[in-house]
Amino acid sequence: MATVKQHLDAARKILTETGIETAALDARLLLQQVLGKSMEELLLSGDVSVDTQNEQIFQKFVARRASHEPVAKIIGKKEFYGRDFITTADTLDPRPDSEALVEAVLNTFSNKKDARVLDIGTGTGCLLLSLLGERESWSGTGVDVSQAALAVAQRNAINLALNTRANFNQSNCFDSVAGLFDVIVSNPPYIAEEEKAELERDVIDYEPHIALFASEDGLYFYRHICEQASRFLSSGGWLFFEVGHTQAASVETLMKKNGFSMLGKKKDLSGVYRVVYGCCQK
Ligand code: GLN
Repeated sequence: MATVKQHLDAARKILTETGIETAALDARLLLQQVLGKSMEELLLSGDVSVDTQNEQIFQKFVARRASHEPVAKIIGKKEFYGRDFITTADTLDPRPDSEALVEAVLNTFSNKKDARVLDIGTGTGCLLLSLLGERESWSGTGVDVSQAALAVAQRNAINLALNTRANFNQSNCFDSVAGLFDVIVSNPPYIAEEEKAELERDVIDYEPHIALFASEDGLYFYRHICEQASRFLSSGGWLFFEVGHTQAASVETLMKKNGFSMLGKKKDLSGVYRVVYGCCQK
């Protein structure tokens, strides 16, 4: 029987040979999941043998990763802003870039006690639930067109013990939304159909296309949400968007055109403007 270290080395080699840049990290995350160990526990058990059953599961996981299935889809979860979120074939995996949006909201409202938050296209619920997790008197609603995604978001809310402050409803943008919110957040689908060919296999083959693509050069949802948002924001409420890497200026223009003020932008970890936000003073 091979040891943990031998399995990690073999998996890293297979993944590197298939062009996976994060081979070592991915091998470790997959083996952690199979053995139910934390990173520290795994690294301390390098000389421990892996039993045949776990070895077979691990080898299947590695083969799936070698076919470019994302680690999060294989292990069914992804860490985001310090919490684990369930993710499935029906939801976009939470991404580190989106943490910039959470930070922008928290910085803007550093001392606001109560707030009602609306998350449009909630997916796993990672944006809404991270905000509620960080601000214990906030509550909110996540909407999505996908019933399957909403079921995942609901499970995440329960797992994180946030289900008393978060509810999830099916709605195409604002179509079935009622009431007023202090904060609206959205990471809508924003990839133009023409950009399909440039996407990595990890994304195009495994992420739900409904969560990725938008018409009008990828700007459809920004335009639609900007036009409607003031009807759902309280006076002095704020709208926060995550945007594609080339879209910040266009989305800023859309927000200005629709009466938003105090516009701000925030960069992601790679230094790209990833968040655009503004205030709605009625
Ligand atoms: N709101 C979710 C996220 O930020 C899903 C976004 C989407 O599906 N476009 O990950």
